[in-house]
Amino acid sequence: MKRLFALLTALLLLLTACAAPVSRQDREIFAMDTVIQLRVYDRDGAALDRLEAELMNLSRSLSAEDPAGGLYAINQAGGGTDAAVADLVRRAAALSQRTGGALDVGLHRASVAWGFPTGSFTVPSATDLADLDNRCGMDLISVSGDTLRLENGVELDLGAVAKGHAADRCRAILERAGVSGILSLGGNIQTVGKKPDGSDWTVALLDPSDGSSYLMTLSIPGTKAVVTSGDYQRYFERDGVRYCHILDPENLSPARSGLRAVTVVADEGFLADGLSTALFVMGRDRGIEFWRASNDFEAVWVLEDGTVTVTEGLEARTSYENAEVVRR
Ligand code: AMP
Ligand code: MG
Repeated sequence: MKRLFALLTALLLLLTACAAPVSRQDREIFAMDTVIQLRVYDRDGAALDRLEAELMNLSRSLSAEDPAGGLYAINQAGGGTDAAVADLVRRAAALSQRTGGALDVGLHRASVAWGFPTGSFTVPSATDLADLDNRCGMDLISVSGDTLRLENGVELDLGAVAKGHAADRCRAILERAGVSGILSLGGNIQTVGKKPDGSDWTVALLDPSDGSSYLMTLSIPGTKAVVTSGDYQRYFERDGVRYCHILDPENLSPARSGLRAVTVVADEGFLADGLSTALFVMGRDRGIEFWRASNDFEAVWVLEDGTVTVTEGLEARTSYENAEVVRR
């Protein structure tokens, strides 16, 4: 009798949980060096808890600056064994090759020399940069199985892809739970599934000229990664020159490609994130050629003079009226 009662109670609890209505749930956390906003449509807070745990974990393990994390230890030791980092570096190497070297996860020492991780900004001398040249670049990094080898004191910096990868992991968690949502990790937006009312997601892109108002919205159906790299996200100014956190691997100096921002829309967060960084280095014209030779992303370029260019796949999705549209 007792057993039957317990069984009935359990069944009742299960039915109540299933019958609980889906409601909008928001949470804000600080991880991966940025404010992260999570919005899910769920019956309880379980999915949010799982997302938060995953993000805190990745934040530590993929940071080049957190002494408690795996990546930091690999940089200190000149290598090590770490399946997750090895996998990311292998994928980054493939994307680096595809982008003609514009993406390079071996530039940490150069970022440090400019002061980006610490905020103590300096313009390194030509001699400093020449010296750094021997200790930067993906050609000094090799991966075999789960083991990484860093030569000449090169250090890894996964900043260009870590948030996109984290968004992919979050997407998988939500998909497994059958929960839809929209996640904002700094410049990375990840949509998952359909909004409960069936309408498209609205993703707003910041105006690079002030970094606080919106330049346009994109209407996004279903699951996508929408990732922006811009010169307004982290930068300093010296003698009227703006130095941003995205470095050109060719000269280990802040990229000056005539762009204020570039946004990439793709199915995968890792790809969108890696490409947005690479496209920022390439500039618009090289970027358009690259897009024409690809079939796995769409893009928005915002030039220094304010001109906006979008690829044809976004023409009907942007609220911006005067964009130049590029076609294949
Ligand atoms: P994102 O904001 O995704 O464009 O990534 C920029 C971050 O990636 C910087 O803060 C650096 O940590 C790192 N980074 C800078 N330049 C590059 C580059 N050319 N390739 C790969 N990572 C870079
Ligand atoms: Mg990126």
